[in-house]
Amino acid sequence: MRAWVIRATGSLDRIELTDLPPAAATPGPGDVRVGIRAAALNHLDLHVVQGLPLEYRFPHILGADGAGVVEAVGRDVAALRPGDRVMLNPGIADYSCEYCRAGEHSLCLNYRLLGEHVPGTLTESVVVPAQNVAVIPTLVPPLGWAEAAAFSLVTLTAWRMLVTRAQVRAGETVLIWGIGGGVALAALRIAKLRGAKVIVTSSSDAKLQAAKRLGADVTLNHTTQKISQEVRALTNKRGADVVVDSVGEATWDESLRALARGGRVVSCGATTGPKVGIDLRRLFWYQWSILGSTMGNDAEYREIVRRLGTGELRPLVDRVYPFGEARAAFERLARGEQLGKIVIQVAE
Ligand SMILES: [Zn+2]
Repeated sequence: MRAWVIRATGSLDRIELTDLPPAAATPGPGDVRVGIRAAALNHLDLHVVQGLPLEYRFPHILGADGAGVVEAVGRDVAALRPGDRVMLNPGIADYSCEYCRAGEHSLCLNYRLLGEHVPGTLTESVVVPAQNVAVIPTLVPPLGWAEAAAFSLVTLTAWRMLVTRAQVRAGETVLIWGIGGGVALAALRIAKLRGAKVIVTSSSDAKLQAAKRLGADVTLNHTTQKISQEVRALTNKRGADVVVDSVGEATWDESLRALARGGRVVSCGATTGPKVGIDLRRLFWYQWSILGSTMGNDAEYREIVRRLGTGELRPLVDRVYPFGEARAAFERLARGEQLGKIVIQVAE
C-alpha cells in the first residue's frame, strides 16, 4: 500500500511516498481495519518529522487524523460493520492502567498517538482498536471525507481544554491566540457554545476577518497591537477569565498580563518553545490556575461526535491536497498559512 513516511527525522525533505506491505488482512479481536479516504495534518506531524524523543520504527507512516470506510472488524467487535463510514480518534489507550480505569484515557500510562507512536493515517489502510473508531454522524448537508478527517484531534483537544479543564462559563471572557490553527478555531466554536465572549488574535488581518464571521466577538492583530493592554481595555481592566495558549514562549508573558483575577491559562502546545517563567507572587495573589491539557477521554470524544451530529460543532477545512502532493500540504502547515485544517485526500 502507498504511504507517506519518513526514514529519518529532519526537514520536510525527509517525507517520501513509498510502497509498504498492506495492513493486516484480519484485524485482532478488538481491532478494526479502516480504508482511509482522507487524512488531516496537525502541528504534531511537523514535530514527528523534525524529531521527537520517541522510539521511531522506520519507515514511519505519518498522520494522526483520518476518516474512511470500515473494511474488516475483529471477532469481538459488535458495534461496527464493514462499509461503515467512520472517523478515527487518534489517541490510543490501554484500558488497563489506573487512569484508564478512572476514565481518563489521555492520561494513560501507555497513551499512544496515531502517526506518532504507532503507524499513522497517511496511507491506504490502518488497523486501530474499535474504541478509536466513531461512525460519522448523518448530517444535512452530509459531512465530506475532508471534514470528517479534520474533526477529531483538534476538536477533542479544544473540548477538553475549554470544557473539562478551564470550565468556561457563560459571560466569561476567553482569549485565544493564533486563530488560524485547528485547535484555536475549535476553541472559538466551543467557547461561543458555552456563552463566552471571545477575543482572538492573529498576525493576519484576513484570518481575523474570517474569525469575525465565525463568531469571534473581538479580533486583535498581535503584530501591531499589545494584546494584554487591549484585553484590559476591552474588559474594564479585569482581564480575560480564560486564556487558550498553545503558542508557548512567544505569548506566555502576555497571556499572564491579560489574565483576570481567578483566571485560568490552559496550554496544549508550545509551538514557539517550551520554557516559560512565572512570578509566584502574582500566581498566588491573583489565584490563577495554570492548566495543561492533552487530547481527551472516551466520554469527551463521544460528546464531541454527538455535537457534530447536532450541528453544534463542525470542523473548518482550509485546503484539500491530492495524495501525491502531501509534501506541499506539510509546507503550507509549516508556513502557518492555513485557516482551518489542511487535508490530504487519500482515496476517492
Ligand atoms: Zn491506560
